[in-house]
Amino acid sequence: MGRMTLQYDLHSHSIASDGTLGPAELVSAAHAGGVQVLALTDHDTTEGLSAAQARARELGLQLVPGVEISVSWQAQTIHILGLNINPDCMELQAGLAGLREFRNWRAVEIGRRLAKAGIEGGTEGARALAKGSIVGRTHFARFLVEHGHARSIQEVFKRYLVNNRPGFVSGQWASLADALDWIARAGGMAVIAHPARYRMTASKLRRLIGEFREAGGLGMEVVSGSHSRDHISTMAALCCNENLLASCGSDYHGPENPWVQLGQLPALPAGCTPVWQSEHWPTH
Ligand code: AMP
Ligand code: MN
Ligand code: MN
Ligand code: MN
Repeated sequence: MGRMTLQYDLHSHSIASDGTLGPAELVSAAHAGGVQVLALTDHDTTEGLSAAQARARELGLQLVPGVEISVSWQAQTIHILGLNINPDCMELQAGLAGLREFRNWRAVEIGRRLAKAGIEGGTEGARALAKGSIVGRTHFARFLVEHGHARSIQEVFKRYLVNNRPGFVSGQWASLADALDWIARAGGMAVIAHPARYRMTASKLRRLIGEFREAGGLGMEVVSGSHSRDHISTMAALCCNENLLASCGSDYHGPENPWVQLGQLPALPAGCTPVWQSEHWPTH
């Protein structure tokens, strides 16, 4: 009633995963950009949350403790966000530790494959760029650009780091059921990240949503830094039809990517119920 709508950004990354800002710096940048409620959702780790929380308190910004979990579903990698998670939950931490172990193994394997393609030092190079506890393809991408093997991060992904390319390693991430179980045990809300990015047919996406909902999932991103205007409309309709809550997040990784900025997200389309209006969202 007469309350101003807060600026929400419920998906972002720091150097704890593959972002380029420190967690405190990220919070300051979000605050400067006009974000009032920010979720830090690093890939498979929560190690940035305490520093982010400390800075958020200083600035009077609401920090939503989150995580973006890597999941394998139907031979595809998908990402599930856990929002308002308790990072002290042991089951969650054990699950994330397993994923980071897989990442370490995969980093060695990616390096081996790149070496076969004539590029030495990839694993060490990527590790050196990873400032936190996870090493990911983005770190390899930065290494390859720095060493002149491609002109842009986008190009490295196309040429080296995706299926049928020399630096691609497939593998098993968490199951959908496990990821949702960890999030539930940590008291969080599960949200499907950037659903339009998976290039699934509409029926496959509905199947994913069906399984996700059965396993306790409640939300999906409608507005995302990686969604076009068309994606937003399509996903808003799907979200409504499937009775999911709608989330919005930039998926910000740092100032290097000029396409995604903090505090610039379009509003959720009318008709969507935002995640923060759910009874499952903690009131502040
Ligand atoms: P990983 O979880 O280590 O396999 O890496 C996934 C991350 O790589 C995503 O979260 C993005 O940050 C990044 N990524 C994936 N595909 C692309 C792409 N085509 N261009 C730029 N970054 C990408
Ligand atoms: Mn990423
Ligand atoms: Mn993602
Ligand atoms: Mn992300």
